[in-house]
Amino acid sequence: MRLPVIPGHEFCGIDPEDGKMYAVWPGVACGKCELCLKDMGNMCSSLQIIGFHRDGGLAEFANVPETSLVQLPYGLPCELAAFAEPMACAINALDLIGLASKERIAVFGAGPLGLMAAKSAKALDADVLLVENSPEKRERVGQICRDEGIPLADIAGAAGFDKSLNATAAPDAFNACMEALAPGGGMSFFSALPPESEPIPVRQLNDLHYRQIALKGAYGCTKGQMSRALDMINCSPAFFRSLTEKQIGIEDVPGYLERLPSGRYLKFAVCFDDPDITTQDKGHCRQ
Ligand SMILES: [Zn+2]
Repeated sequence: MRLPVIPGHEFCGIDPEDGKMYAVWPGVACGKCELCLKDMGNMCSSLQIIGFHRDGGLAEFANVPETSLVQLPYGLPCELAAFAEPMACAINALDLIGLASKERIAVFGAGPLGLMAAKSAKALDADVLLVENSPEKRERVGQICRDEGIPLADIAGAAGFDKSLNATAAPDAFNACMEALAPGGGMSFFSALPPESEPIPVRQLNDLHYRQIALKGAYGCTKGQMSRALDMINCSPAFFRSLTEKQIGIEDVPGYLERLPSGRYLKFAVCFDDPDITTQDKGHCRQ
């Protein structure tokens, strides 16, 4: 992140020229290198991220290249469409570990990303278990999980999962993810660990070797995955609505930002009212 910057990389907005609504793929990639041509723009060496390297969705106006725009399905409210980026990150992670129908996957961390990863896994007809250590958080998301048919547990229980994913930066979750796998399993290293974490012991790396475990990093998403995410959001609006604590105005942001590090909240949608917008939705929302 290049400071100072106005944050916001999960957002959608309106083109003031033609009134069309778009979700924004926050990457600005070169579009020409080998990785970009393989639809891996999120790995482009000249990648810049809107909201990290240049002003993002909490700015009144965001400068977005046309190549980063993903048009919304008709009628999809933008406070839901703003979930396209994080949902696409979950899709990217499952793509990279090749999660298949009927496979067992344990997702560690029942925050918004863990819930979205579990939702994506269910969409692939996988057998998913969501694991959350905090009783408060389990209580908070219990109803969402019941509505979605996602089993929620405090520990993974028996090992033997085909796949696992860490949707929390806690080093304990990283360890639990590896331990939950059956021999030959694959883990999505989805959340980076805090830089000050203890080094990973050699015996843990050797465990990858002896049990033929695959560890696959996942960072960001591609524009194509954002289109898939928008289709899923369009099909399951109630789920994504349940991930939103509240819609707030831009003037409320400073007060809410202070509460976010507690990790107790799901998402807040920041909505900009604009009386000039007369298209499919009455405001443009950023999250
Ligand atoms: Zn490139």
